[in-house]
Amino acid sequence: MHEFEFRALPWNIVFGAGSRARLPAELEKLGLHRALVLSTPNQAGDAQAIVDLLGERAAGLFSEALMHVPVETVAKARTAVTQTGADCTVSFGGGSTTGLGKALALELPNIALPTTYAGSEMTNIWGMTEAGRKRTGRADTVVPTLTVYDPELTLKLPASIAGPSGLNAMAQAVANLTSGAGNPVVRLFALEAVRTLAQALPRVVAQPEDLEARSDALYGACLAGASLGTGTTGLHHRLCHVLGGSFGTPHAETHTVLLPHTTAFNAPAVAGSMSDLAAALGAEDAVRALFELAEAVGAPTTLEAIGVSQGDLPRAAALATETPISNPVPVTTKDVEALLNNAYLGRLPC
Ligand code: NAD
Repeated sequence: MHEFEFRALPWNIVFGAGSRARLPAELEKLGLHRALVLSTPNQAGDAQAIVDLLGERAAGLFSEALMHVPVETVAKARTAVTQTGADCTVSFGGGSTTGLGKALALELPNIALPTTYAGSEMTNIWGMTEAGRKRTGRADTVVPTLTVYDPELTLKLPASIAGPSGLNAMAQAVANLTSGAGNPVVRLFALEAVRTLAQALPRVVAQPEDLEARSDALYGACLAGASLGTGTTGLHHRLCHVLGGSFGTPHAETHTVLLPHTTAFNAPAVAGSMSDLAAALGAEDAVRALFELAEAVGAPTTLEAIGVSQGDLPRAAALATETPISNPVPVTTKDVEALLNNAYLGRLPC
């Protein structure tokens, strides 16, 4: 018998190849007139094309978005908003740029044009970094007013970023299938995300110009973000937060390396979900399939490969377990150290 609570987020989505062309008309519908386009320095050239597309509805370009949304960058962007008289922002980029738009969303509406598979645009999770410490929280007000998913914008995403980025999305869905929370609506998002991403990511990496594969991967990321936005986080996200925050590991790659290990850790408490997960991955053994998917897309599979030293593991385990973790299998510092050691060595958990 079902028993659950589900609260949707205020999503508003346009999805389709070439859909960025609808941006001026969509702004008109929303009653918005002057958009400040946000991007990372790397993507400034392509973001300028969005400024050009917006024409008189563009207030300008702010191309200084950085990973983990430093408060100094938010302050600079706020100044740019004031100087240009913008009445909304358009985040053109991956999770870093979406994150900047979210940080400004209390003050003005944000439209997201995702160009990676981070899925952040579907969540109500915000993050900001001050003096080397990242704070995160949930607020529905940071969900973009509109998200325009145009898979053509992901065609230039190199395989080396696309693989881990897709596995970052996969982790959001897997964490929500194996959280023990048993919310059937969140599970729908998560299962379909896993199925779609597992099929799409190897195709994206093998044939980067395959627009259909890119579209599937972006759709999978959208669903994965929906599962994270309406679902929960547990041991997996705690470990990623600690490694990223205190040891400077790259975000998507950290998710990629840890995912088989955190999934194996929770498996004993969620046997039914593990069978569903394996079926969605098209495999018999879900943990092995996640590990092999990372290998297949050329993503890192060891903590060593992403700059963690073995001597850091005890401190990482201690930091991760400083406060209780909501997780279907109770977590001790010793367990986490063993898990991290396996992940360091790339030893497939059994
Ligand atoms: P990113 O946004 O930092 O992008 C990585 C690099 O790829 C950047 O240099 C960027 O310019 C480049 N890039 C992006 N799209 C490109 C494209 N189409 N073509 C060529 N280059 C492209 O990385 P990310 O993994 O997308 O996002 C990571 C950040 O997002 C982290 O700060 C993470 O905490 C946050 N995040 C937040 C949530 C949430 O729910 N709040 C979810 C996932 C990630």
